[in-house]
Amino acid sequence: MLTPNWGFSSRWTGLVLFSLVFFWMGSIAYGQSISLADVTAQDGLVEIRLTGGGVTTESFTLTSPTRIVINLEGVRTKVPGLIPGAGMIEQVRYSQFSPTVTRVVLDLLEESSYFVEEIDQGRIVRVRLGSSVNQIQLLPTQPLPTLQVQGEGPLVATSFALPSPERLVVDFKYATLARDLVLPEALGPIARVRTSQFNHETVRVVLDLTMPLAGILEDVEAGVQLALRYKIEKLAWQGGQLLIDTKGPRPQQLKREDGVSWLEFPFTVASTLRLPKGQGVELSSRQEESWFLGVASPGKRIKIISRLGGIALEFLPSALAGVRVVVDPGHGGSDPGAIGSAGYREKDINLAISQYLVRFLKEYGATVQLTRSGDYYLSLAERVAISNGSGAEIFVSIHCNSFGDSSKQGVETFYHAKSPQSKSFAQHVQEQLVSLRPCIDRKAKEGNLYVLRENLALAILTEVAFISNPQEEALLADPEYQQKVGRAIADGIEAFLEKK
Ligand SMILES: [Zn+2]
Repeated sequence: MLTPNWGFSSRWTGLVLFSLVFFWMGSIAYGQSISLADVTAQDGLVEIRLTGGGVTTESFTLTSPTRIVINLEGVRTKVPGLIPGAGMIEQVRYSQFSPTVTRVVLDLLEESSYFVEEIDQGRIVRVRLGSSVNQIQLLPTQPLPTLQVQGEGPLVATSFALPSPERLVVDFKYATLARDLVLPEALGPIARVRTSQFNHETVRVVLDLTMPLAGILEDVEAGVQLALRYKIEKLAWQGGQLLIDTKGPRPQQLKREDGVSWLEFPFTVASTLRLPKGQGVELSSRQEESWFLGVASPGKRIKIISRLGGIALEFLPSALAGVRVVVDPGHGGSDPGAIGSAGYREKDINLAISQYLVRFLKEYGATVQLTRSGDYYLSLAERVAISNGSGAEIFVSIHCNSFGDSSKQGVETFYHAKSPQSKSFAQHVQEQLVSLRPCIDRKAKEGNLYVLRENLALAILTEVAFISNPQEEALLADPEYQQKVGRAIADGIEAFLEKK
């Protein structure tokens, strides 16, 4: 229950009398005895704890010195007390005022409105000093303005949006409106700023908007700020397309991360948006400074289409769909390849990465074959024979690099000079691998390597990292990183085929 008070107002006398009668009846019925347990004070707030519930309070203010008096009916205090206050509250005193009444007095530095609140079934009585809303400004921040509200006393603000017409509302609880308040002029999408004493305890500030916007409320030194943000107005499936409506900046590109394509909507808030389910497409989101929409569409590539009011995402078959790919894990059996200082063998890492790569290629709809699926020896001629015999379009050989100087690190990818297309293929895969982590980009390079030269498919050989470098060896041995490498190579092949 809340009982608002201002100065010597006697508007509540009737209510107080009724409460007294009610308590009188209550104490006859139950013979309750309540005593004062604890009184605490902080800036603008005094909390009175009682041993039992159902207390009846009466309050008023007195001047010279300025003070708020709270009478707690039926409450006993064994020992009178005094505690120091905080902020506008100088000190708090309490004592047995009459045989049935405990009196708590808040000595104030200045006159203030106040609110008495009984919570926990009357076991706690809170006396809160009111604040006043003194200044309202619109700051010309970019790309959208910011509302700044300053007041006297702690401002307790909440905000919400209201549609048709579009509005943003900020409520200040336990507050009154300063009489000489000057309202700011319209700014950007804010057509008007209105204020009202919404009810006896709430000041309401309303922004009339020309478009749907969201607001982020934050406490700042000067008071309270509402930073305006764009909204996602619509997110819905229509005819196989995902429609996204917003008046804010639109994403131009997708950032692929571990099988999820991310679209960034800057200066946009959509934290409460429900993500619709679509066939074979999984949506996720995260709210940071920008709003990010994650789209996982295995086997399908995403095209961003600009349209009135926003964008649409179109889902096209992956460029890998139906493509024959041969994946060749380098070395094997009696040939371990290079061995790192921690003892990891290249042949094992090559196979592990290849198996992840196969999984992702299949997910994208490719027909995939491994040259070796276990730890056994295979000559270079046998590897090429498998590729040429299968009629593969794409051949990828997976290796780890090795060098005498253990500080050497980075990624390089080889192609054969006979095929200009395989150069572009190598560049796309190299680009994806380099984007996985900060490392040296040793580029796509020409290499007169047997498995490339004799291959009928578009063929590359990638050295995904240096096993001779201890840091890179640790990465190569990590299944999580192996999986990322597999995904990056699959994405590189897909990107190459899209542009081919
Ligand atoms: Zn090798």
